[in-house]
Amino acid sequence: MLITSLKQQHEELRRLVEEAGIVTAFTGAGISTECGIPDFRSPGSPWLKNKPIDFDLFVNSAEMRAEAWRRKFAMDDLYRGAQPGRGHRALAGLAASGKMPALITQNIDGLHQASGVPAGNVIELHGNGTYARCLSCGGRHELAEVRRRYEESGEGPRCHCGGLIKSATISFGQTMPEEAMTRARDASVTCDLFLAIGSSLVVYPAAGFPALAQRAGAQLVIINRDETALDDEADLVLRGDIGDILEALL
Ligand code: NAD
Repeated sequence: MLITSLKQQHEELRRLVEEAGIVTAFTGAGISTECGIPDFRSPGSPWLKNKPIDFDLFVNSAEMRAEAWRRKFAMDDLYRGAQPGRGHRALAGLAASGKMPALITQNIDGLHQASGVPAGNVIELHGNGTYARCLSCGGRHELAEVRRRYEESGEGPRCHCGGLIKSATISFGQTMPEEAMTRARDASVTCDLFLAIGSSLVVYPAAGFPALAQRAGAQLVIINRDETALDDEADLVLRGDIGDILEALL
């Protein structure tokens, strides 16, 4: 069936959600733009003003570690007050209905948990930027204390075990978190409906999950303002504002 009008697209999305037994959502930076956090690739992105610092550089250069923390705290100051938006709240509703046992996200902002999705149901593929971890012992460090020490010394702080402390996010060149990848694979192959929301779908391996879900028999819906790399493969594509679309749906 060729779906042409916006109204038909919304109706089709509603039907797919109603008929699905299990829904898996997969979110990217686009769901958080209405909360004031810019996405990665849209024009004017503050994230691309500087070349991202690869994991190897962070580990091997004290200067780059200090620079990574300088950028991290400058960004945190800009986006500190961000609250969940309409898209987050709509997905929290879907999770509360029991239909969406897992939500896979590429985001590092913690806004799905803040919107009420149980933390255990959120699979963070690229980690979480609201705290830090030691790269050696894995111990958790709170950012306020890391910042105090960084501002005092001008250097990236170390853990009591001697290891390097790093924001708990996954940098370019860093190994993907094994448990999150396994859970994301499971959530992709066991759902009836896979909703890819607010992602350009170009960052791999994360962007492989929509196609994996589809190969395993799920319907694939893409909700995004701009074209994505997988639009031609999807069962339904809704181009528009995520907040508007999900608020109307749920
Ligand atoms: P991306 O920047 O590559 O793509 C975001 C997509 O969202 C774009 O295609 C854009 O058209 C769309 N979009 C933006 N606002 C929208 C809106 N209101 N309604 C509908 N569509 C909208 O993002 P990505 O695919 O998630 O990849 C970026 C990477 O950078 C991720 O891995 C993520 O870890 C990281 N990142 C995270 C955050 C965050 O946590 N909020 C922010 C920036 C970057």
